[in-house]
Amino acid sequence: MEKSLIIIKPSGVQRGLVGDVIKRFQRKGLQINGMKMMQLDEDILRRHYAHLTDRPFFPSILQSMMASPVIVMVVSGKDAISVVRQMTGPTNGRNAAPGTIRGDFSMSGQENIVHASDSAESASAEIDRFFRPDEIFEYKPATLQYLYADDEITD
Ligand code: ADP
Repeated sequence: MEKSLIIIKPSGVQRGLVGDVIKRFQRKGLQINGMKMMQLDEDILRRHYAHLTDRPFFPSILQSMMASPVIVMVVSGKDAISVVRQMTGPTNGRNAAPGTIRGDFSMSGQENIVHASDSAESASAEIDRFFRPDEIFEYKPATLQYLYADDEITD
């Protein structure tokens, strides 16, 4: 099954939304394969947000992402990357539809509660960036037959 990397940002941790965010992914039927708390530093954030380091707001992102520990998670499921991005909503919480995490919990383009991988390539790089191989757990979901039809389970 496809894997995606999720970060519950300091905005989610400090506002007490960790449980709400995790609950949404679990209720959807995504499997949790890894989860831990980390304090991010400038080095890992420069790699994680390499596409934004030249933007004028990058120092503000750094400060925001280092303001408290974060929760990093690996979840899996069929088409997990696009499913998680749809559940997350667009970057700015004010533009995100109700029902999405950002739409329900954020009023900001920066303080937007979660990060989610946006492609298979970035998911793979991000999982390697935040987790050691022995921190990722493969196990058969007991509810698999109630989550998917047989022909939807491809790997
Ligand atoms: P996304 O997180 O939706 O994939 P990006 O990769 O474009 O979006 O941006 C990464 C993060 O940088 C955003 O989630 C947000 O926290 C922050 N960010 C993006 N654009 C801005 C902006 N114009 N001002 C402040 N912060 C921003």
